Formats: sequence, structure tokens, C-alpha cells
Amino acid sequence: MSEKTRRIAFIPGDGIGIEVTAEAIKALEALIKSHGLAVDYRVFDWGAEKYLREGVSLPEGAFDIFRRDYAAIFIGALGDPRVPSNQHAADILLGTRFNLDLYVNQRPVKLLDARLCPLKNRSEQDVDFVIFRENTEGLYVGMGGVFKKNTPDEIAVQEDMNTRKGVERILVYAFEYAGAHGLKKLCMSDKANALPFGHGLWQRAFAEVRKRYPGIESRHLYVDTLNMELVRDPSQFEVIVTCNMFGDILSDLGAALQGGLGLAPSANIHPGQVSMFETVHGSAPNIAGKNVANPMAAVLTVGMMLDHLGHAQAAARAEEAVREAIRENVTTPDLGGSFGTRETGDWIAARL
Ligand code: ATP
Repeated sequence: MSEKTRRIAFIPGDGIGIEVTAEAIKALEALIKSHGLAVDYRVFDWGAEKYLREGVSLPEGAFDIFRRDYAAIFIGALGDPRVPSNQHAADILLGTRFNLDLYVNQRPVKLLDARLCPLKNRSEQDVDFVIFRENTEGLYVGMGGVFKKNTPDEIAVQEDMNTRKGVERILVYAFEYAGAHGLKKLCMSDKANALPFGHGLWQRAFAEVRKRYPGIESRHLYVDTLNMELVRDPSQFEVIVTCNMFGDILSDLGAALQGGLGLAPSANIHPGQVSMFETVHGSAPNIAGKNVANPMAAVLTVGMMLDHLGHAQAAARAEEAVREAIRENVTTPDLGGSFGTRETGDWIAARL
């Protein structure tokens, strides 16, 4: 491995995560060859199988190793019905997000073929925006508790944690991204009318940050209105920035607009540090092991990862190969095709 070679850690995980990661690796290998990329990778067998066998989610010091030796991490998907607590998934997935402080969750929503959009008369140009979800705070930090559990008087409290620093840094990232990519329209979304404390902070931070970016047309929509507008006319959006929970929900809506979970990639970023890339879909135990999972989200995720590592051409090629596969009807059943996971992956890799 030369000085400049960047190293990627692959964690296939569970269920269809294992199947789609195999296809993602095929695509990466093809791109390494065709574009002469100085990229190397290693596969880690962390997931339910190992957790059940050894009681270990991930070894001690794993995050230090990532920080020191890796440029990026690719996670397939985690979750297995044999681990009802989902402890290993929380340790690996949330552990990576929180320990590496990956505060930007970037979820592009791009319609690659107009035939896949569930909305009437929409072209590829109408559905092309990116959601930035705050990834380290909000309702998902696990603050709270239950009192008098399993009694008629049970009380459950789940805290929504927002810090000025945390909110400001995701807003700044979204504005900077818009500026760097020639995007002019940014929408911040919250629910400050009903959540005046937590989301009042979002409003104040937004009012201040937007002043620094006069060239970007920024606006605010409450999340319920944004939800409706995304279905009514998605073409009005270029960049959306929002909190952890709303970002989670809106990106599934986004995935539907682009043709389903089988096509949705995402990135978990801390600028300048090791970042993590994953498909938006989960481990889908209902279709695992049947060679029917769509590997395209995983291939597009490899593209996002390469783009992040500075290989924009290879990233564009990955997207183009997926677009070609859809155009030629080389697709899995979720997109109406009759190809298997491996066959679709082979076709894309050959194209690359
Ligand atoms: P999560 O891990 O997000 O809590 P999950 O594993 O139950 O959820 P997902 O994998 O996110 O579910 O997806 C929900 C459903 O969407 C799946 O049960 C499956 O039918 C379908 N699906 C998801 N990903 C794919 C894919 N790559 N190819 C085909 N179908 C998919």
C-alpha cells in the first residue's frame, strides 16, 4: 500500500446488508481498475452472527483504529430478528455516528429514471435535492426514562436535546454545500410553533447563519408543510436542512420519490475526519438470503464515498452505470425486473 492509498472499512452487517455489500465491493473493485484509484479495503465480519457467537458487537478500540487507519467506512445494514434488543446494531451503527461525531447525515434524493417516480408527470429534473439531517442530537440521543413501567400509571419521557453548537454546525454545512455546488435554494425545516424551546433555538441559529450567505435564497417551512410541498412540487427544493427525527422521516419520503429504498444512498460525515457511508434501507429480514434485494443503493453509496474521497469521476460513473441498468431494465423485483441481486451487481460491475 503506497503512502497515498486510502483505506476503506466494509461492514456488511446483517440480512440483505451482506448481499448488497458484496455487490458494492464488486463495483468498487471495477472502479479501482478502470479509474486507477489508489484505494484499498478490508471487510469486517461484525454483525448479529458474531454477536450471537462471541457476545461482541465490535472490538475494543475499533473507533481509534478507524480514526487512525481509515478514510471511510461502509456499512451494509444491521438488524436481525435473532437479536430482539438490536444491541449489536445500536453499538455498531449509533456507536459509529456518535463516537466519530458524524454530525452530517447527507441524503441525496435524485430521480434517475422518470418511470420510477410515483408522482404524475414528473421528470428527472423535478426530483433532485439533498437532505441534510442533524445526526448527533435531537430526540435520538437516548435521554429519558420510564417510571412505573408496566403499570397503568406508567410514565415515559424522551428528551429532545438541541445545542446551539450542534444546530449551527449542521446549518453552516448545508449552506457551505449549497455554495460549493452552485445550489441557490435552501430550506430549513422545524416545528418551532409546537416545540418553542428546542426548535426556537433552530430558528435563532438559522436567522443568524443565513445572514452570512446572502447569495443563497433561504427560507423556512414547518415540517408538516414541507412534507406536503415535497409531494405537491418537489422541483422547488435543492437543499433541505433539518433535525435528526424530521430528517429520518423526510428521507424515506425522498426515497419513495426516487423509486424506493433500493435506490437511496447516504453519507454520515464529519468534515476532515473518517466518515461513514450506508444505504438508507435496513437489513430487510423478510427478503434476506433470497437474492432479490436491490444492490443499486449500495452501488450509489460507493459512489458517494468515492466522491467524498475526491474521486468525482468514478462517482459519476457509478451513478451512470446504475442509470443505464435501469434504462435497460436490468433490475430486481422492487423495480419491476426479474434480475437477482448478484446478476444486477454483475451487470453494473461489468459496465464499470
Ligand atoms: P430498519 O432497519 O430501517 O428499521 P427494516 O430492516 O425492517 O428496517 P428496511 O430494510 O428499511 O426494513 O425496508 C423495509 C422494506 O423495504 C423491506 O422489508 C423490503 O421489503 C423493502 N426493501 C428495503 N430495501 C430493499 C432493497 N435493497 N431491495 C428491495 N427491497 C427493499
